[in-house]
Amino acid sequence: MKKAVKPAKINPVPSICPTEAAAMTSTHSQNSLYLYPAQPDFTVDHLPDFIHALQAIGLIAHKIDTEKTAQHYFTGEKYLDYIAYMGCAPSIQFEAGADNEKFCFIKIHQLPKPQLIHSRKQPRAPHCPHCNKPVKNWQDKKTAASIHCDLCGNSSAIEKFNWRKMAGYAQLFIEVTDIFPKEATPQQALLDKLAAITGSKWQYFYSCQ
Ligand SMILES: [Zn+2]
Repeated sequence: MKKAVKPAKINPVPSICPTEAAAMTSTHSQNSLYLYPAQPDFTVDHLPDFIHALQAIGLIAHKIDTEKTAQHYFTGEKYLDYIAYMGCAPSIQFEAGADNEKFCFIKIHQLPKPQLIHSRKQPRAPHCPHCNKPVKNWQDKKTAASIHCDLCGNSSAIEKFNWRKMAGYAQLFIEVTDIFPKEATPQQALLDKLAAITGSKWQYFYSCQ
């Protein structure tokens, strides 16, 4: 069994071929692409309406397990129009195999309050909105809604920092599972449709847990 990538490798975002990625999914790593609204406290009043809208645009299909309450969905028929895969020809698995729970599906997370989801593997220090320098000790300087920068002495809201696409602060997330950083990117058409559905601008990041 292949071990996780050595942390000694400094190259922050190795471009990984999906065949390599497929081999790596046998480890315990979880790699996802997250879409989230720019407005951190944005939430939908009625989740079923939001789900229905995502099904109507073909991003998601039906719920994976109707018995469970978790908001897990199969990818919809327009999924590959919205998410563009890079590099070598992708061999994307859209359904679980006999003993394989690792496949590409979509989770909807609606949280009681805004939360920072950040990549634990391949982490990147966020850049301060005032001095634009990386705040390396941000985890020690973080409160519920802000981070203090020792370099310039300013405290700023978490969402004002530049997380360099490896973290996001929001209350609502659309998680696409089994995607490595930069392996696939959401197309502008999808971000536009999400904006039209919600009335809020959308953005994305990658997470390796
Ligand atoms: Zn600063």
